[in-house]
Amino acid sequence: MKFNILTLFPDMVEGVLSTSIIGRARQAGLIEIATHQIRDYSANRHRNVDDTPAGGGVGMVMTAQPIYDCYLAAVKDSPVPREARRVIYLSPKGRVFNQQIAEELSHYGELVLLCGHYEGVDQRVLDEIVDEELSVGDYVLTGGELPACIVVDAVARLLPGVLADPACYEGESIATGLLEYPQYTKPAVWNEREIPAVLLSGDHAKVDAWRQEQSLALTRERRPDLYEAYLAAHPPVPAKKKRKKAPPGDA
Ligand code: SAM
Repeated sequence: MKFNILTLFPDMVEGVLSTSIIGRARQAGLIEIATHQIRDYSANRHRNVDDTPAGGGVGMVMTAQPIYDCYLAAVKDSPVPREARRVIYLSPKGRVFNQQIAEELSHYGELVLLCGHYEGVDQRVLDEIVDEELSVGDYVLTGGELPACIVVDAVARLLPGVLADPACYEGESIATGLLEYPQYTKPAVWNEREIPAVLLSGDHAKVDAWRQEQSLALTRERRPDLYEAYLAAHPPVPAKKKRKKAPPGDA
């Protein structure tokens, strides 16, 4: 998959997306990430990319022209057809990003992520190019770069080969509908705290049962919304009634 990030601060994005698992996936050619400097496309002789809000008010608004020309240049030679490309504006006004949306996006051939700044972006360019707005949560950041990195990271790790084993994400918090059970590693005792004995028992059935129990308890405590949804999708199986013994003489 190719990720195109349209931004005024490519260094910020490159720094995050060149390290660790995503950096290695790029080097291995499993994903392609291209950052595009919006300012390079300003037709203004001062290379301005923002102006005062129409109707008055505080702050500045990113102008339509450099963003539009940057977008056209980013996708000009793309072999991916328009319907296999998703153009996203990172915005606190958008649909709130989650694991299900990451999965939806992982099926596209190309994502274009537009990072806003200042008071936001001229609505007309959003109407012209954007398929949807995504928010990373109910808070306001200074720019769309960190949200874009979040979307790239969450989507990229679902793509084949990026993680060593799909089991790494299949059993994780949210993906299963529940929060993940607590994890432990060696040593068996640290600071007088012990790993729960069941995890050292070697009994896989008991370990699985303990993990499921922990997941359910943690989700019920911290995310009642997820817990209710999980119960609705996985109703508890009623315990089998014991059959009464037939009284003597019954056929
Ligand atoms: N005036 C805008 C509003 O009230 O909706 C907020 C603009 S914000 C200061 C600047 C940029 O940061 C936005 O254009 C957007 O790209 C990005 N941004 C801020 N918070 C975000 C969030 N929660 N999710 C995604 N992007 C966000």
